[in-house]
Amino acid sequence: MKEASTERSEIGLKKNWWLGAILSLLLIPGCQQTKSPPSAQLTVQELKNSFENIKNLGLQEERAYDFLQAITAVGGRLTGSPEAARAVEIATGLMTTLGLDRVETEPVEVRRWVRGEKEQALVKSQKFGTQGLNICALGNSRGTPPDGLEAGVVEISSLEELATRKDQIAGRIVFFNTPMDRTTVEPFAAYSRAAQYRVHGASEAAKYGAVAVVVRSNTFRQDDNPHTGLMEYDPRWPDIPAAAVSTLGAEKLQHWLQHDPELRLWVKMNCRQEEPVWSANLSGQLTGVEKPEEIILVGGHLDSWDLGSGAHDDAAGCAVALEVLRLIKEAGLKPKRTIRAVLFMDEEFGGSGGRAYAASGARKGEKHLLAIEQDRGGFAPLGLAFSREDLAVKLQPVEDYLRPLGVNWVRTGGGGVDIAPLREQGTVLGALVPEAQRYFDYHHCALDVPEAVHPRELELQAVILAIVVYYLAQEGV
Ligand SMILES: [Zn+2]
Repeated sequence: MKEASTERSEIGLKKNWWLGAILSLLLIPGCQQTKSPPSAQLTVQELKNSFENIKNLGLQEERAYDFLQAITAVGGRLTGSPEAARAVEIATGLMTTLGLDRVETEPVEVRRWVRGEKEQALVKSQKFGTQGLNICALGNSRGTPPDGLEAGVVEISSLEELATRKDQIAGRIVFFNTPMDRTTVEPFAAYSRAAQYRVHGASEAAKYGAVAVVVRSNTFRQDDNPHTGLMEYDPRWPDIPAAAVSTLGAEKLQHWLQHDPELRLWVKMNCRQEEPVWSANLSGQLTGVEKPEEIILVGGHLDSWDLGSGAHDDAAGCAVALEVLRLIKEAGLKPKRTIRAVLFMDEEFGGSGGRAYAASGARKGEKHLLAIEQDRGGFAPLGLAFSREDLAVKLQPVEDYLRPLGVNWVRTGGGGVDIAPLREQGTVLGALVPEAQRYFDYHHCALDVPEAVHPRELELQAVILAIVVYYLAQEGV
């Protein structure tokens, strides 16, 4: 019987020979880049050994979770906050301890929004008396007057209804009771539809004279944890205070309103916008031994919201990026091309870190072939997604090795807020897509803490990505 490995590669090749053939046809005649199957450059056995090494190191030691705990130890890391600055220091220490090359920070000017004292909300009803509600200010929102503000409430379920009832809005608080649609299987799709009320609701309501908005939290869970997130003001309308209410609170408020439409809501929010401050992106790398100027980037964002400690969002992505480089280094592998971990600042308040990274002078002479951002939580892997279709073919020879680790498919897609600006430089964008059904249970709320992350699920993300980026650092993209 032939060597298992060659059998593997032959099987791989046979299965997609026609694809390889077509691709080779597509290549420009004379192009030196003609790709030979991995066996030509690295024996399949050598490749398999390094993969096995990476997997065993990772699953044995589960260091990704250690990195996550180190980052979340500072608590919530609002962009521009002392905690975010502290997180940059801690992560710099982690990269230095790992012995990465070129551990560097790059300055980024960021917004500085401060939440201030905890928010308060009271429903005052003839029928139900005075009842508390769990709310939190939305990021970027202005605060209320020092004594709070009180007004009648109008429950609204869509922008169309808001326009229809525009004559009932002036001087009142608009309660956007707009749940994430439970019948939508893909949670990110349900989220992106519901989140528009969080982002734009305040200005839409201010258009008709509302004095504040309270938006139902973006989660499928029915609990008393409000979920924060960024809101943006439309400068054409007054900037009124904007808060999120927990889903349980939204249910209660709806019930009270149905039985007492004349109730009043008092809210007190102490948040404020301060002057922009300087923060930083952080990067560290394994410099390529043959093509150091060609870069494969793995990243996440270091900033987070402040209600929890941003474990899934996005200490998980940062921890995975660090662990990818640790595993490759610990396995004694020397990538041909540079593999760089980038921990971006300010994903949550608009992505200035990602833009600054792509535009930085330090990029001169660098060619980013591929950028992978992990920002969908630390859950069990499901598949891989890349913005260029042929990456799926490119990974064929290693797919059989990745499948048992949790890679069920390789699809078109991927990307992330912080790496998106690299697209116009011709960079392929990608992501490891994890299981998503629990993501919005934790997203932007007090439940997003390390205990919500399973160390092994997180480690599998890092193991898979270490194999993928090492393989592509050898093969090219
Ligand atoms: Zn995020």
